[in-house]
Amino acid sequence: MTSFSDSALLALHREIVAIPSVSGNEDQLCTFLCNWLAAKGVKTERLGNTLYAVTGTSGPLVCFNSHLDTVPPAAGKVAGDIDVSKPGVVTGLGSNDAKASVAAMIAAFLRLRETSAHIVLTLVDREETGGRGAEALMPELRARGLWPDFAIIGEPTNLDIAIAQKGLLILELVAKGEACHAAHRHALGVDNAIRNIARDLTAIDDALTAGVLGKPHPLLGEITVEPTMINGGTARNVNPASANCFFDIRVNPTPTPAEITERLRKYVKNGELKIFSERLQPYEVDSEHPFVAAALRAARAVNSEAKTFGSRGLSDLVFFRGIPAVKAGPGITERSHTPDEFVLESEIIKGACFFENVVREASNI
Ligand SMILES: [Zn+2]
Repeated sequence: MTSFSDSALLALHREIVAIPSVSGNEDQLCTFLCNWLAAKGVKTERLGNTLYAVTGTSGPLVCFNSHLDTVPPAAGKVAGDIDVSKPGVVTGLGSNDAKASVAAMIAAFLRLRETSAHIVLTLVDREETGGRGAEALMPELRARGLWPDFAIIGEPTNLDIAIAQKGLLILELVAKGEACHAAHRHALGVDNAIRNIARDLTAIDDALTAGVLGKPHPLLGEITVEPTMINGGTARNVNPASANCFFDIRVNPTPTPAEITERLRKYVKNGELKIFSERLQPYEVDSEHPFVAAALRAARAVNSEAKTFGSRGLSDLVFFRGIPAVKAGPGITERSHTPDEFVLESEIIKGACFFENVVREASNI
């Protein structure tokens, strides 16, 4: 077997950026990669538009995970359009998030196939729309005896190592009133749902200012609570019978979603506060875990300034709770989801070295 070259890696990256894969439409890219890997002698398994492949038998099983999908293109842009007119730069939707990691992980997987290192490469669909791809993959890995010892989630972090990640809790506040003519509400002495929800919103805000959710996390900072959608009323001259408001809450490992809800409920006097979704949980790995040290050494071998950090953004790391895992990869998160998303080819090449180093470093744990 000949080693997979950097130029072959960059050619693969260009090919996959040129294949549109907006979330929910990953079929073409998944099929391309299954065929491409088959031509290299790699057998893949497919679960919808998620693919996975295994190599090696010895040492800890390391999972490479990244996502095939992208967000929709910005106005005036077309998914799959690629611009390589600037030397060393690839511009196109998904070039950075996360096709740089996808290509670099495939390169590391092929290079390590020449050793006996045990790796499961997992490239999933639907990450950008809530993670249903990774969520479906995890029980499949367990059933196949492929539950990872360690995992690395390939996302653009400039090879910094995310060891904690915020989760998302969505709460819904519902307030009631009684429908009647607006002119008669006062005389009838009934409640107005919009006034009720406004009072509760103000009370929650005051409680947050007073620090009801506790101290900031050392890596993740404050829990953020933002009312993001509000609805109420049916006509300009009708006293509103109901109103509701959603809160986007970016949570830390503690307090738990149930504790947060309980603490805020104490301030809700007029309506009812309900958990709408707690599916996307926060993640944290012990900063002293040997896999964190291994990942950091691997990153510093290609970028001496690499460091650990806590990430505010969601990723499929959510679904790796219970497995020592980190989020790291080539590219820069601020370029993601922008109209002129790009990645440097030098970043992709370093990324492949980094993923290869992670496995080598982890083999001694
Ligand atoms: Zn991503």
